[in-house]
Amino acid sequence: MSVMAAQRMGVSVVSLDEDPESPAAQVGPAITGSIHDADAIARLMTECEFVTFENEFIRADTLRSACEKVGYEPDRVVPGIDTLATIQDKLHQREAYERAGVPSPRAVSADLAEMIEFPCVLKARFGGYDGKGTRYAKTEEDYQALEPFWSDGGWLAEELVEFGEEMAVMVVATREGETGTFPAVYTRQKNYVCDLVYPCTDPEISAEAQRVATEAVKAVAGVGLFGVELFLEANNRISVNEIAPRPHNTGHYSLDWGGMSQFEAHVQVVLGSFSGVRSGVPACMANVLGIDDAKDLKRAIDAVCREHPEARFHWYGKKQAKAGRKMGHINVCGSGDIIDYAERARETFLTTWSQS
Ligand code: ADP
Repeated sequence: MSVMAAQRMGVSVVSLDEDPESPAAQVGPAITGSIHDADAIARLMTECEFVTFENEFIRADTLRSACEKVGYEPDRVVPGIDTLATIQDKLHQREAYERAGVPSPRAVSADLAEMIEFPCVLKARFGGYDGKGTRYAKTEEDYQALEPFWSDGGWLAEELVEFGEEMAVMVVATREGETGTFPAVYTRQKNYVCDLVYPCTDPEISAEAQRVATEAVKAVAGVGLFGVELFLEANNRISVNEIAPRPHNTGHYSLDWGGMSQFEAHVQVVLGSFSGVRSGVPACMANVLGIDDAKDLKRAIDAVCREHPEARFHWYGKKQAKAGRKMGHINVCGSGDIIDYAERARETFLTTWSQS
């Protein structure tokens, strides 16, 4: 979707993915190669004035070595490589918030048993997503039972937050130090995967969420587009869960809200031409996850279009519709009960998709 946003602005993009039929390769020129291969990244660099990524699992040292191989200036990689290094280690990310005084759960390396208070959340420092790599330890016994995970120092233990809601804000930060924010949204999770995103209509909570999210991006010296996941706690205290250094699922509503899309913002900030977030109307997004018994995709999309003209359907073109995998989403924008409309449209899609 960033590729398509760039193309609309007359900017050509080459993508890198080991799958020659990746979603990005379906809409523009692509290099087939691994994001963990410095030579493949170096090849991309020789073709591109700027490099960006939509995947925080690319290792920072692989990017650095690709830059060295072809003499590519590291500051042409946006978000910056140092920011990526801080974010991709969840413990370093927490430490950056603590140093900057940004509210965030206290965290220590999970093998420091004497420092840990219960209940706590144990997380893999590297590579977790959609709750994979997250475990709860209510008691010391739970913690001991999880020893095979944390004993090698690769996990952190953090304070369990008794949050009321989860929220998110997309933040744009330029090389010149200017920042812009998209509206604050609530996010509803199901089995640790984001299920629904809808607007926060309380102006004070929104403003505080945007402020904390912006401070979090500054704490990691961020330049680029960032999805900041937040906890809303008692007394409207807002703290940071984590940052994704890329377009984010919780910003997908912006494809249809009539204002600037997060992908447009992504491209602009990489090119150094970001000119502020243009607002749109309230919007709700329902994620569409893969199901085991998926049948005819076209019929399911047709059913949504026919029965829910207010819904906008997006499909990512991922080859395998594995159960639980984010395959697409549905946006409903404007007035009325947009949450109910979006959920009903998704129900129509999933019911039709599973029928032969
Ligand atoms: P991932 O990167 O796998 O998505 P997260 O850190 O976002 O992992 O955690 C997944 C979910 O687990 C969050 O959306 C939230 O519901 C819950 N969670 C994460 N950290 C905490 C915490 N410290 N306290 C309470 N719940 C948490």
